Amino acid sequence: MTQEYEPVIGLEVHAELKTRSKMFCGCPVVDSTLSSPNTAVCPVCAGMPGVLPVVNQQAVELALRVALALDCHVEHTSLFARKNYFYPDLPKGYQISQYEHPLAQHGRLSIDTVNGEEVVRIRRVHLEEDTGKLTHVAEDAERYSLVDLNRAGVPLLEIVTEPDMHSIEAVRAYATALRSILRVLDVNSGDMEKGVIRFEANVSVRPVGSQTLGTRVEIKNLNSFRALERAVAYQIEQQIERLRRGEQIDQETVGWDETKEITFSQRSKEEAHDYRYFPEPDLPPLVVEREWIEHVRANLPELPRARQQRFVSQYQLSALDAGRLAEEKSIADYFEACIAAAADIAPRLIANWITDQLFGWMNQTGEDIEQIRVSPQMLAGLLQRYVQGNINQNTAKMVLEEMLRSGETAETIIGKHGLEQISDSDIVAELVGQVLRENPQELENYLAGKATLSNWFFGQVMRLAAGKANPQVVRQELEKQLRMAGDKLQ
Ligand code: ADP
Ligand code: MG
Ligand code: ZN
Repeated sequence: MTQEYEPVIGLEVHAELKTRSKMFCGCPVVDSTLSSPNTAVCPVCAGMPGVLPVVNQQAVELALRVALALDCHVEHTSLFARKNYFYPDLPKGYQISQYEHPLAQHGRLSIDTVNGEEVVRIRRVHLEEDTGKLTHVAEDAERYSLVDLNRAGVPLLEIVTEPDMHSIEAVRAYATALRSILRVLDVNSGDMEKGVIRFEANVSVRPVGSQTLGTRVEIKNLNSFRALERAVAYQIEQQIERLRRGEQIDQETVGWDETKEITFSQRSKEEAHDYRYFPEPDLPPLVVEREWIEHVRANLPELPRARQQRFVSQYQLSALDAGRLAEEKSIADYFEACIAAAADIAPRLIANWITDQLFGWMNQTGEDIEQIRVSPQMLAGLLQRYVQGNINQNTAKMVLEEMLRSGETAETIIGKHGLEQISDSDIVAELVGQVLRENPQELENYLAGKATLSNWFFGQVMRLAAGKANPQVVRQELEKQLRMAGDKLQ
């Protein structure tokens, strides 16, 4: 029997904090994709001698939000340290980071997988500063690197888990849930393409049933969910293969080659950096008073998972739909604004129209919920007309498309194109009668036993009504008149 192996994964997530200014100086935090290089730099973040760092209070506040949302214990006193290493994007030659005494520890984040609810323990949440950005250029024979220090000193939060994940699915669920929390807390934009969230994954495998940890490989600089998942999957596969061949796993740090979809070795355990950490002499201990913690805690917004659970119990949504609506605050708010605007409409129906029609539109156009031209009140207005039988489902979908394109209300569009549905049973009876009179041969065949013709009659009536007849009323009326025709025959 072949030995079965279980993957063990721990994640380190770096998230830039959406502060106005940098972590230890007054330079503005700018969008790296929009601003010219080296325009948001001062002697402090450029690492000039003799300057003094000052801790950004807003960064601490945002970090506290995350720590509390992840159920961490916030330390009354934490310390900044110097992490020494040489690299051209690090002008000081060291990064100020929290090491032995982080801001917060011992948290948890619940995720959903096929195994149900799983808890990923959070080991620590600490503050540090980002490095600058290098661009490597290779032109003809020339090779050089450019450095942009706009990002140097931007507040960075590091969130480290315990090695608690055992599948790619769990990794994806954790990463998605964490990004969603950071966005709901308004501490990070979640724009992965801009590099504001970066992952490092530590991966090992062990025989199923074993309680000891295997030797781990650390994968650096994963900038997208896709890279994260692929790189972890690749490592798991490689490691299991090695063990099956009777080989050992070497502890090492690897990078991810996006195009080849393989990891490549960066350094072995022997070459591991000695960062020579020591307490930052220019900064006092960071003290967070109880009142501050309680103030931040009291002002936390409803978190995605709690909101999802409330949507399930309060509005009878499926967990899946509730999760899709609650993941983004703006979408969850939109959904609840629709409910507030139309108390007479089942929330499930509203949820379906958002997840089918609006999500479809947003995927197609790239617009987000704040950009679409249909307000919650307008969607509610459309659905009211549908529920009351003024328009049928197909017409409602067409009207919504036109609303999304033109920004006009359902009322305007229905009026303009005369789309009002015919629900009046007298009018529908007239249409059904006409179709039966005009198709005597089909009626005869139907009465002779060709039951499928009733669908054909239905189609004819709908065509005669230009698609605007209420389908339920048509079905009823058709059944009634076909029965009468049959009775007459006997
Ligand atoms: P560092 O990378 O600074 O050496 P740690 O030893 O604290 O840090 O571990 C960093 C991450 O690696 C954590 O998320 C932890 O859960 C994870 N980790 C540690 N050991 C293993 C292992 N054997 N297999 C998988 N992940 C691990
Ligand atoms: Mg690490
Ligand atoms: Zn600066």
